[in-house]
Amino acid sequence: MSLNHQEFLRYSRQMMVAGMGEESQEKLKAATVVIVGLGGLGCPASLYLAAAGIGKLMLIDGDEIELSNLQRQILFRDSDVGKYKAKVAAKRLLKLNPNVQTEVVLENIDRQGLAGLLDDAALILDCTDNIATRQEINRAAVAYSKPLISAAALGWEGQLLEVRTDIESAACLACAYGLEEDEPMMNCSTAGVMGPVLGVMGSMQALRAIQIIAGNSTSDNSQLGRFDGKSGEWKHFGIPAKTDCAVCSK
Ligand SMILES: [Zn+2]
Repeated sequence: MSLNHQEFLRYSRQMMVAGMGEESQEKLKAATVVIVGLGGLGCPASLYLAAAGIGKLMLIDGDEIELSNLQRQILFRDSDVGKYKAKVAAKRLLKLNPNVQTEVVLENIDRQGLAGLLDDAALILDCTDNIATRQEINRAAVAYSKPLISAAALGWEGQLLEVRTDIESAACLACAYGLEEDEPMMNCSTAGVMGPVLGVMGSMQALRAIQIIAGNSTSDNSQLGRFDGKSGEWKHFGIPAKTDCAVCSK
């Protein structure tokens, strides 16, 4: 997918970056990214992906905007309360970059619901906030061999899990966390979350997605990153694939 003059101008600053050139930009333009959840993670992630020139964003979220979302869900405005997140997001992202195609799915997905949407996807961003949905997304990612960038945040802390189902023998989310589907006692509605921590994590999801699609990701396995928003420190862990994983072992 070749670039026109306007696109050369629009993306010039990222095309100058080492490892990113015209060919990388064309790959971004040809790519579809599926974003599940347009909350505190999906807002920054989708903004950066739209700005960077991803060809198509599939925006999946069945929720409406609430007043208590506005502290961290930076696509939305005070006057948006009561509207569908995915619809408002699509409108705002198109204003940012009219070259980007969007498709809105107003559902909180299950595995079947997601499966039909993944055929053309380059990768999936898991920006949800519940464990049962995360497990479903992971199963679909493994079934379709699509890379999955999953993030979460609570309080001052964030987690980034890069599931490289596109790489032979890489671990999946169930290798890291098991098949847990019960909600923990602590979540964003009971324990709170700092908005900028979600900004860091959502931005990391977008950055990883761009690297993988552009073909300059250096990671060769699944990995987990933990971010401490109080100290600003990151810790990274490799995740070994479980040979008896119920989801990904062959
Ligand atoms: Zn697994």
